[in-house]
Amino acid sequence: MSSVKVAVRVRPFNSREIARECKCIIEMSGNTTVITNPKAPPGSKEGAKSFNFDFSYWSHNPSDPQFSSQVMVYKDIGEEMLQHAFDGYNICIFAYGQTGAGKSYTMMGRGEDGQEGIIPQICKDLFRRIRQTTTDDLKYSVEVSYMEIYCERVRDLLNPKNKGNLRVREHPALGPYVEDLSKLAVTSYQDIYDLIDEGNKARTVAATNMNETSSRSHAVFTIFFTQQRHDQTTNLMSEKVSKISLVDLAGSERADSTGAKGTRLKEGANINKSLTTLGKVISALAEIASKSKKSKKADFIPYRDSVLTWLLRENLGGNSKTAMIAAISPADINFDETLSTLRYV
Ligand code: ADP
Repeated sequence: MSSVKVAVRVRPFNSREIARECKCIIEMSGNTTVITNPKAPPGSKEGAKSFNFDFSYWSHNPSDPQFSSQVMVYKDIGEEMLQHAFDGYNICIFAYGQTGAGKSYTMMGRGEDGQEGIIPQICKDLFRRIRQTTTDDLKYSVEVSYMEIYCERVRDLLNPKNKGNLRVREHPALGPYVEDLSKLAVTSYQDIYDLIDEGNKARTVAATNMNETSSRSHAVFTIFFTQQRHDQTTNLMSEKVSKISLVDLAGSERADSTGAKGTRLKEGANINKSLTTLGKVISALAEIASKSKKSKKADFIPYRDSVLTWLLRENLGGNSKTAMIAAISPADINFDETLSTLRYV
């Protein structure tokens, strides 16, 4: 199995797109997603581009037979990733795409039944499996952290008093980490839910205070999952730690398309830097995975080029499994951004 899985998901029209009578330029069939250039002559196929991903999720219209619900997306991606965590891998799930394309909906979702995204579903499933499998010889512990990366600076969302700029350091054995980032022990889904809620509120408040929007920062929710096993025959204890990183990336829209100047432009350049670096890291890893063992050493992976990729180093390479979900708009007015999203992933 390849260690990077890629999915694309198209959302319903939003009210603005309905008001502007937008046309749907996305078609999906099996694992293939086709985007049509709305400026191409009507009926011609010349403006159509086709992409193949591990999964194509049609979430455009709930009454369509191929409609993919939150539960279906979780079953394909979340369940498999959680299994990898139980098997001892580090895992990482990203949502990529322009602002308003459905990243938060896919990762967090809405509070209502059946509308929960990957994060709440993975947390529920994690505690369900912990309850079912805990014995005297197998014990688990779970801790979480929640941070935001904005303009290459790290902010702790679980301790908002810890203002804006935490130091990123490197532990000789455990790799890069954020100094003083809160890591809180949790024992139930409700504990996690309360912390996420608190973190999301802190994110919105901080964004409003600084006259920004949360769509310009990366939100990284991490679960540190430890399994302690006691071997009865040898009487030895062993411990397996997996890091589960769930990332709602900043909007991928280019700074120039929003007429940004000054701080905004710098901010855009920083966001793009981490997204560009992430793209480079993932394609370098994919290339390595396809090469023979012998040539692996020579490859350079540019983790250090952005805070996001540096902090996720242990979750991306080596002993880890990654899934990337590209969220896209179905509308003709977003053709350029949607095409660049499909090309990115
Ligand atoms: P982003 O995080 O990419 O900026 P959001 O997740 O906030 O975008 O999505 C924008 C809007 O579209 C929200 O109101 C969200 O509920 C809705 N939405 C996104 N994806 C879907 C989907 N697959 N099904 C239904 N509504 C969706």
